[in-house]
Amino acid sequence: MFNKNLKRISLLLVLILVAFSFSIYAMSSAPVEEKEGNKVVEQGTPKYVFLFIGDGMASSQRMLGEYFLRAKTGDQNAKLTMNQFPVAGMNSTYAANTLVTDSAASATALATGYKTNKGMIGQVPDGTAVKTIVEAARDKGMATGVISTMRLTHATPASFLAHNESRYNPNQIAEDIAASDVDFLAGGGYRYFVPKDGELKSKRKDDKDLVKVFEDKGYKSFVNDPAGFRDYKPESGDKVFAPLTYSHLPYELDRDPKKLPSLAEITQKGIETLSKKDNAFFMMVEGGRIDYAGHANSPATVANDMLAFDQAIAKAYEFYKNHPKETLIVVTGDHETGGLGLGFKNDYFLNVDELLPIKSSLDKINYSGDRKALFTALKEEYGLTDLSDKEIAKIKQAMNLEDAGKKPVEYMPGFMSPVDAAIANVLSERVNLFWTTYAHSGTTVPLTAVGVSATNFGGYKDNTEIAKTLAEVLGVKLTEAK
Ligand SMILES: [Zn+2]
Repeated sequence: MFNKNLKRISLLLVLILVAFSFSIYAMSSAPVEEKEGNKVVEQGTPKYVFLFIGDGMASSQRMLGEYFLRAKTGDQNAKLTMNQFPVAGMNSTYAANTLVTDSAASATALATGYKTNKGMIGQVPDGTAVKTIVEAARDKGMATGVISTMRLTHATPASFLAHNESRYNPNQIAEDIAASDVDFLAGGGYRYFVPKDGELKSKRKDDKDLVKVFEDKGYKSFVNDPAGFRDYKPESGDKVFAPLTYSHLPYELDRDPKKLPSLAEITQKGIETLSKKDNAFFMMVEGGRIDYAGHANSPATVANDMLAFDQAIAKAYEFYKNHPKETLIVVTGDHETGGLGLGFKNDYFLNVDELLPIKSSLDKINYSGDRKALFTALKEEYGLTDLSDKEIAKIKQAMNLEDAGKKPVEYMPGFMSPVDAAIANVLSERVNLFWTTYAHSGTTVPLTAVGVSATNFGGYKDNTEIAKTLAEVLGVKLTEAK
């Protein structure tokens, strides 16, 4: 009897021990692996610094991009590269004079550490120019790069390169950019750099040839030359000026990959060019068209531009993996666009699969009064092959308004047509998401970071603190407060 009990007790003890050691194993193994994937927390001065700005990118855009990636790959665990970085923060974005900011005021905050008024570029509200982080990095002797899917003179890149009372002075902003001595400039919008009445179509009011200014300084220029840009093999000491298109680069959905490089390809070229010098570099990369897609309330266009932006970040992350003790990557947004909410009515299901067949942006679908042609284009070019009677009725109602020269709502902006709005609405309802505005919203944006001194960017910060923190970790000075 005694023996039997002893046996039972020892068996129980063994079982408890086995269970205990298993639970220790389980507790320690999974998180350690995760930590190894996320080795980050080097402190000090990074040699290679990337600042990625998703224009109009806040939490909803980051999640829509991630759910779209899952739908596209069929991998329910897929994550955006930017959503895997180990350090996270939240940033407030308000401007000096409005709680809902624009890209000029928000990019000026991210670039200089100063709040300014909506529309102002690299200046504080009284018109004083303040130093940008790109200028500070350049003055420290770092190689510098600014890349955007927008025209290079547009609000976000301009706020890192220029100083102007208004974002709507692109000709003056172009002159600042030509004087900036930034080593790698690539994006859209040659129209403000080429002279009036020259070979290429210009929007300048004068005969100034800013391309020549770049070339005289020794830049390799790829004006309206995406093929040449693609073939170009960077060499040590190269400087590059590459406004590849007349205006913005197209939405990712509308980009012809045979003709135009992706944002990831441009970023990779920037990395190759700047790292050739073997000195330190600072690079700002803007995914600019996420914002336009948000203004158009177009979910498929947002989702595809989010993936294109994330693929550019993945190029920087590859570089980081080769130089983990020297690289810092910071990803943030300048503000939210569209008031995008992932969920609508009384329904918990998001049907992101609905975005998969969409083959173009609404820019490609133009209603000219020919109803049949529009419905054919929706089927053949846009990818909406199975419109319900209710959806068709909604689009026809918008056609009635458009034919009568009316708007569905007074606040619909000039660039939208009632038919565009109806199609965007049909698609949004299919996905079960909704928009509160055709403009920006005043919510916070998430920031993520990886690499040397990445932890300094975590926490709940104002957007001005991002520039200040960059200056601090780079050991450079921005304009000091009076
Ligand atoms: Zn915007």
